[in-house]
Amino acid sequence: MKVDFLDVGSSYKELDNEIDDAISSILKSGQYILGEQVESFENNWASYCGARFAVGVSNGLDALILSLKALEIGVGDEVIVPSNTFIATWLAVSNVGAKIVPIEPDSETLNIDCSKIESKISSKTKAIIPVHLYGNPANMNSINNIAKKYDLFVIEDAAQAHGAEYNNKRIGSHGHLICWSFYPGKNLGAFGDAGAITTNDFFLDQKLRLLRNYGSKCKYEHSILGLNTRLDPIQAAILNVKLKYLDQWNFRRAEIADRYLNQLKNSSKFSFISKSEFALSSWHLFVILTEDRDLLMNKLKDKGIQTSIHYPIPPGSQKAYSSYNLRCEKSESLSSRLLSLPIGPHLPMKYVDYIIENLLLNS
Ligand SMILES: *Cc1c(COP(=O)(O)O)cnc(C)c1O
Repeated sequence: MKVDFLDVGSSYKELDNEIDDAISSILKSGQYILGEQVESFENNWASYCGARFAVGVSNGLDALILSLKALEIGVGDEVIVPSNTFIATWLAVSNVGAKIVPIEPDSETLNIDCSKIESKISSKTKAIIPVHLYGNPANMNSINNIAKKYDLFVIEDAAQAHGAEYNNKRIGSHGHLICWSFYPGKNLGAFGDAGAITTNDFFLDQKLRLLRNYGSKCKYEHSILGLNTRLDPIQAAILNVKLKYLDQWNFRRAEIADRYLNQLKNSSKFSFISKSEFALSSWHLFVILTEDRDLLMNKLKDKGIQTSIHYPIPPGSQKAYSSYNLRCEKSESLSSRLLSLPIGPHLPMKYVDYIIENLLLNS
């Protein structure tokens, strides 16, 4: 048996006619920048997330950069970020010239350890960027309380949390600005790069629309220094189709996660990531912790099972950050024990059982 870590092409196989129609409708429309499909996806996404507004942008990293710019965070400012995340969270802060203040994860959830935030706040701190890592929402009650107390902005990196819930409400408006990626492998993925920002704040929404479009509302009139980072209408049309299936796809992910948890819970060799209190995960990834990770990974590979690591090198230990002195020991030591098992809406349960069988053989 051959089990891929993730088969992003299967969502096209499932919806090929609908997707073909959506793409050709854009090609026939003659509207290739912004326009109706982008607006309709923005409305659909805002309403799915329970936010007032959504602004479509080019990708998740740009969503984070635009959010920081909209809040006028830059040189001389400090931003609190988790030490174990995909590097985009850090790069956004670096790209606006602000200083990264990393916080190590909580051992149970691997999300930002909220008990360590207050001691890292200074007079220069402007924002906290929690990441809902693996789809498991960060402790937003605690983060929002701290932000209120110190008058900070909360920018959520929700790139892995499409459809996840916190306090019985979908991720999308717990913080001030919520950043989304629709990279193909995400729970809601385009067939190319795409992203969005959701918010309940009218003024931030208006500013983000200017920022993504050359600082311009009317052609050739530029009121602020903007960028060109708009959501592509072909991707918007694809996302409008795929959004209708997101809940059922997330449901499948949860079923797979349940199967892994139930079947592996009695093995002392693996430990799991606890879900945050008041949270419902989107199960973007199914991550276990195990001591002989590399050996296990190879044994699974020999059985045709592809696994992955999220992430093998934390941002602070990357070469790109080698001169910043931001290495984080706990994240580094965690990264040698992490193993991501295949999960996805199109992964057949018999493959999941085959993976479980092989994991148990090695436990
Ligand atoms: C995917 C991802 C991003 C970046 O999104 P892109 O669309 O690839 O730019 C940012 N943060 C996290 C946590 C991600 O998983």
